[in-house]
Amino acid sequence: MAIRALFPTLVYHRALGLPPGGRLGRDLADECASLAASDEAGRRWSQKHYLGGYTSYGSHDRLHMVSSLFGGLRRRIDPHVKAFAKRLGYDLDGRSLDMTDCWVNVMPAGVVHSLHLHPGSVISGTYYVAVPRGAGPLKFEDPRLSRMMAAPPRRADASPALAGHVAVSARAGDLVLFESWLRHEVPPARFEGERVSISFNYACTARSRRR
Ligand code: FE
Repeated sequence: MAIRALFPTLVYHRALGLPPGGRLGRDLADECASLAASDEAGRRWSQKHYLGGYTSYGSHDRLHMVSSLFGGLRRRIDPHVKAFAKRLGYDLDGRSLDMTDCWVNVMPAGVVHSLHLHPGSVISGTYYVAVPRGAGPLKFEDPRLSRMMAAPPRRADASPALAGHVAVSARAGDLVLFESWLRHEVPPARFEGERVSISFNYACTARSRRR
C-alpha cells in the first residue's frame, strides 16, 4: 500500500515481573499505605491539588533516593526504561538516563488526575501496586489533537491506532512507560478500595567524560 505511518507514539506496557506475593511487592504496598497515613505535609498538599486522594508528589517526590525499598524498585525499572529508550531510537552514547523523581499516588473512587504532561523529563511512567476492578485507566491523548482543526470525527470502526484518546488498563504489578511530552490523565471511576501507584520521571544528562 502507498500509505506509511509516520511519527509513531510509543507506549510500553508489561508486567514488571516482581515475584507474585514476593517481599518487594508486599513491602511497597505497605510503604505506600504508611506514607498515605503518616505524611501530614503530603496530605495537606493533596487536599489542595489531589482532592479526595493522596499523593506524595508535593512532599516526598524522590523516594528512590531516600528509601532502599524504592531504590530497589528503581533498579527493577531501569532495564525497562533502557529497552524503551533503545526502541525509541535515542542515542545515549555519552548520556545517561536516570530516575529523577519518584512518588506515590493513592486514589479512592471518584478521584481525578486531570490531563497533564511531565515537563523537563524524557520518559515517565507508573508502576501499579493495586488496581481494584473498575478503577480508572491511564488515558492518553493524541498529541496532534489541537492541530486537527476542521477534521471530521473518526468512524467508530476506525483503527484503534487512529483514536484521539487511548485508555490503557493496567493490572497490579504492571509497568507503563511513555515519553514525558505525551498528555495523560486518570478519569474518575466507581470502584471499591484504592488504586495505588508509584509514578516516576527519567531525565537525560551528559555523562562526564573521563580524562
Ligand atoms: Fe502523570
